[in-house]
Amino acid sequence: MLTLKDQGIWSKFLDFIKKRISQIEYKNWFSHIEVIEITESEITLQVPSIFVQEYIIDNYKKDLLMFLPTTKKGDLAINFVIKQNEKKKMKSPILPKSVGNRDETTFNPQYKFDNFIEGPSNQFVKSAALGVAQKPGRTFNPLFIHGGVGLGKTHLLHSLGNYIKTHHKRSNIKCITTEAFINDLVSNLRNKSVDRMKHFYRTLDVLIVDDIQFLQNRLNFEEEFCNTFESLINQNKQIVIASDKPPSHLKLSPRLIARMEWGLVAHLGVPDLETRVAIIQHKASSQNLNIPSDVAFFIAERIYSNIRQLEGAINRLAAYSKLINAEITIELAQNILHQMLSFTVQKKLSVENILKAVASFFEIKPSDITGDSRLKKTANARQVAMYLAKELISDSLQKIASSFGGKTHSTLLHAWKKISNELKKNDTLLRQLEIIKKNLEA
Ligand code: ADP
Ligand code: MG
Repeated sequence: MLTLKDQGIWSKFLDFIKKRISQIEYKNWFSHIEVIEITESEITLQVPSIFVQEYIIDNYKKDLLMFLPTTKKGDLAINFVIKQNEKKKMKSPILPKSVGNRDETTFNPQYKFDNFIEGPSNQFVKSAALGVAQKPGRTFNPLFIHGGVGLGKTHLLHSLGNYIKTHHKRSNIKCITTEAFINDLVSNLRNKSVDRMKHFYRTLDVLIVDDIQFLQNRLNFEEEFCNTFESLINQNKQIVIASDKPPSHLKLSPRLIARMEWGLVAHLGVPDLETRVAIIQHKASSQNLNIPSDVAFFIAERIYSNIRQLEGAINRLAAYSKLINAEITIELAQNILHQMLSFTVQKKLSVENILKAVASFFEIKPSDITGDSRLKKTANARQVAMYLAKELISDSLQKIASSFGGKTHSTLLHAWKKISNELKKNDTLLRQLEIIKKNLEA
């Protein structure tokens, strides 16, 4: 830890914020944050939980920006570390970050098959992962899991890891993120210990690799990864990979893509409404929080594309309801979640902005959208634009519809329904919408 003097900018920030918020808020959000390191370009803060991290960014970003280092793009350059609880700290003394250390595997103990809620979108992947965990190297190899952000890929990988560690105690198992693999390789290259590293990876029984998409455009590393991969597979050692896209959509060498398609490629979809409600209720009850089912539905209907966001919503509700000692109602949920919910009205957004953003995304002209063309691409873009307009603009349906070249409000509703339904099963569309929304915010 740094001395008070070194903490300069952080203590200045604290002085500033202390005067602007209540004592309770200060105590809740700032008193447990510790500064680990400050450089000119970055500050490393230790926070008690991911929730605190998200909360202070969501709520105090402007204030933080006044004091802390920023990136070139003007974003906060904060590196967060989550505080490990004391027990865990004692068990695992800090080890040098080199390879050859088989106990270094860090599976999140919270991620288990038991608390992964099943629904039609994820049942298959879950049972494939469980199958692999029960018989590593003997069922699907490699197991390749792909799906959008926050849908539980990492949760499943770690469940698998935890399961193997409990049931196959002698297995040499390692879980790495692709970034960690690259870093490992870089530091071993620097220390001229690549052979040791190769040996380490190639004598594993189970290798779990998260976020393989980061290997794209990293040519030098890709080759080494591919060699490791082949050497393990040839010995019937289990490999499990997660990615945000299927192998064929990754910009990787045909050789590696083909290897990844050898085993089972399984898709993790967006959970349907009932599953999302079940997840909310499960997460709430594990925090001893009572979320009535109307509130659970209210949230699940509005946060649909990312379970991490659902968790954020629950944490936020929990913190608030404890803070002000209130029951959780739809109203409370509405107040607290308004920034997170995609249904809220955006700042001064007009149909025109939406037309432009959607047209540019689909590479057509805004006038195509307001026109009558029935070309598939145009019709689809039109429906997307109508959906977004209904979601994001608070005018009457009639008024919004008329901005689409004088369409009727039933056309608008029809488009909205179609896209809403489609979103429940179509990941690609979901991501497209997210990109368009981001562009709208920018
Ligand atoms: P990804 O790696 O796909 O981005 P994560 O595995 O990190 O997603 O999941 C995000 C959060 O959502 C995690 O806290 C995870 O526990 C939770 N989560 C995702 N899917 C489920 C599920 N089906 N049941 C319970 N929790 C889930
Ligand atoms: Mg992940």
